[in-house]
Amino acid sequence: MTIAKNHNFKDKVVVVTGAGGVLCAYFAKEIAKTGAKVALLDINLESATAYADEIVKEGGIAKAYQTNVLDLVSIQATRDAIATDFGTCDILINGAGGNNPKATTDNEFHEMNLAESTKSFFELDKAGVEFVFNLNYLGTLLPTQVFAKDMIGKKGANIVNISSMNAYTPLTKIPAYSGAKAAISNFTQWLAVYFSHVGIRCNAIAPGFLVSNQNRGLLFDAEGKPTARAGKILNNTPMGRFGEAEELMGSILFLMDENYASFVNGVVLPIDGGFSAYSGV
Ligand code: NAD
Repeated sequence: MTIAKNHNFKDKVVVVTGAGGVLCAYFAKEIAKTGAKVALLDINLESATAYADEIVKEGGIAKAYQTNVLDLVSIQATRDAIATDFGTCDILINGAGGNNPKATTDNEFHEMNLAESTKSFFELDKAGVEFVFNLNYLGTLLPTQVFAKDMIGKKGANIVNISSMNAYTPLTKIPAYSGAKAAISNFTQWLAVYFSHVGIRCNAIAPGFLVSNQNRGLLFDAEGKPTARAGKILNNTPMGRFGEAEELMGSILFLMDENYASFVNGVVLPIDGGFSAYSGV
């Protein structure tokens, strides 16, 4: 069962960055079911191509483009190729993003007499922090600079960014990722205002804690019981469970769709089972 059947994006060109990754490949596949022409952008061409091939095999319209979202020359070349293949962009999903272990502390709290081997806040690597800020923030800003130029004045044009739960309140250990996602939420509001006279809406989703094949091993032990960190997450999620990638899709399609969200602009929609609403008490 797919909810994509409730939306019609026939002939629209939808550009998805990070589409070689777990979530955005899934978004691309669902969006293709609405009749859109989907451009899957990723630095990892092999992965994006595999997903684009799946879409085409199922009768959808899609193509993969090797793109570095941190390199304007690369993004511009992709923009030109998409314009030739499909036409110019109508809807941009800025999905490329992520964390880096070099920008992650070992400890949740600083303590007296920590073991020498602990990577504390004081040992965070400047290059690691820069990597995370660049990938998430500049990796959203630069594709927007290139693709939004074509979207000005187009009916139904809009941008969907990917923020995170930790944009509201930072998670322990990952200050750079939390700060970069807070910057995405802020930038989403900035763009919404900036483009409001030229017909481009801009919104974001803020996913909570999802189970994916990538993190399943970190969240559950061999017997399927939650690990200590997973237990903390579940205790702070009023609905008492993790989300699934499919549960993000309704919000993405809603925000993308002029028929449902024509006056929705500048929102960051939490999809988190109530995590951000709960004080823990
Ligand atoms: P993922 O790591 O599976 O996918 C990210 C993709 O981005 C990868 O395919 C990678 O090759 C690509 N990428 C990395 N650097 C790039 C660059 N310079 N140029 C182009 N592409 C590049 O991650 P995911 O879990 O699918 O997450 C997608 C988005 O959702 C990210 O922005 C992430 O921060 C956000 N998010 C994820 C979760 C989650 O639980 N998975 C929760 C909240 C937010």
